[in-house]
Amino acid sequence: MGSPHDFLEHCDRLAVMGGTFDPIHMGHMAVAEAVMHQFKPRRVLFIPSGNPPHKPNQPITEGEHRYKMTLAAICETPSFEVSRMEIDRSGYSYTIDTLKRLKEICPLGSKIFFVIGADMFEDMFSWHKVEELLTLCEFVVVSRPGYKITHETHGATVHMLEGLQLEISSTDIRERFKADKPVSSLMPHTAETYARTHNLYNAPNNYEWAKSRLQERLSPRRYHHTMGTVEEAIRLAEIYHVDVNKAKWAALLHDCAKEFATDKKKILCKHWGIPLDDILESHIDLTHGLLGAESARRHFQVTDPDILQAIRYHSMGNKGMTMLDKIIMLADYIEPHRDEYPPLAEMRNLAYTDINKAIIIGTKFTNQEINDRGDKVHPQSREMLKELKQKEDI
Ligand code: ATP
Ligand code: MG
Repeated sequence: MGSPHDFLEHCDRLAVMGGTFDPIHMGHMAVAEAVMHQFKPRRVLFIPSGNPPHKPNQPITEGEHRYKMTLAAICETPSFEVSRMEIDRSGYSYTIDTLKRLKEICPLGSKIFFVIGADMFEDMFSWHKVEELLTLCEFVVVSRPGYKITHETHGATVHMLEGLQLEISSTDIRERFKADKPVSSLMPHTAETYARTHNLYNAPNNYEWAKSRLQERLSPRRYHHTMGTVEEAIRLAEIYHVDVNKAKWAALLHDCAKEFATDKKKILCKHWGIPLDDILESHIDLTHGLLGAESARRHFQVTDPDILQAIRYHSMGNKGMTMLDKIIMLADYIEPHRDEYPPLAEMRNLAYTDINKAIIIGTKFTNQEINDRGDKVHPQSREMLKELKQKEDI
């Protein structure tokens, strides 16, 4: 009990996916799913390789990272597991050793399917102790674009999985990272987050990447406003001694969900567990901060809770606003590209000396407009205003 492979104790049918997983991608996920469906193993076990003998000249990402990234990708699929057996082994890592070890762990007489892409199958016959390998497991050979499946099986028990022709490879994904091209539909989102957070594939700069993704989704007008907000947020952050990097990110993404269509906003609130009160229900656009924070986390790999909170509260405000929250709210109000509106000049005058007062003026003006339209101001905004006024003693 308590060993890392406990889950194999009763596993009498196991599928094994070996690979470098540098990074794991949708090709791997789709293969694993198809194997599950067709061969009904109890588990699909991903085993990231240690130091692979067949890729001696190519630098590969540290095993620990590949293990954690694979784990992040599969953890929500109940029948998928990852093993660190190979990454923890010192020296070269041979498949024969892995299969022998699995045979020891699984119940006697259990069946192991070793899943292998058509690109690797022929190569396999030159692996260490291959004759013995062939006696330990059955093989599932998966078709892959550009590779012919050899029918020379040297006595191995081979099953074909030919339906899948997925033009996805880790090599291509690594190049895409480097060239700042999108990869989101090619790999599990959680694995992408892991790779970006740890900068595994030399993406030039996560901020520049986010900026181009944002430009794709916003109208030119809103993008222009956003860049003004970034400029202003940086200025305010310097003055108020707040982490400039956080301010930059929060400002960049503050409106990232603003231009989603109404129905999309509604369905996303439901999918993302954002509860709607009566006011939000009837003015769905008010959710754009809440949705923006969620989108920043899910689509832009932002994990910092301070940044997410500043995005979340930038339009309605909230009780207990941090200085970063206030900076994003005010930068949104006074950024240099804003068209004139009555209290703008006064707010700009106060911005660098009395941020609370500047926000009070902006919020009062906005709330007046809401009242004049016959709409209700959200209680969160009223609470913020009350709190700020107490601080200012007005
Ligand atoms: P790289 O480009 O770095 O070689 P890869 O995309 O081939 O990476 P690996 O980690 O080497 O990924 O692959 C692990 C296993 O999954 C291998 O058996 C490989 O043949 C198989 N495989 C990977 N991608 C696909 C795919 N798109 N279709 C079918 N099999 C795949
Ligand atoms: Mg490969």
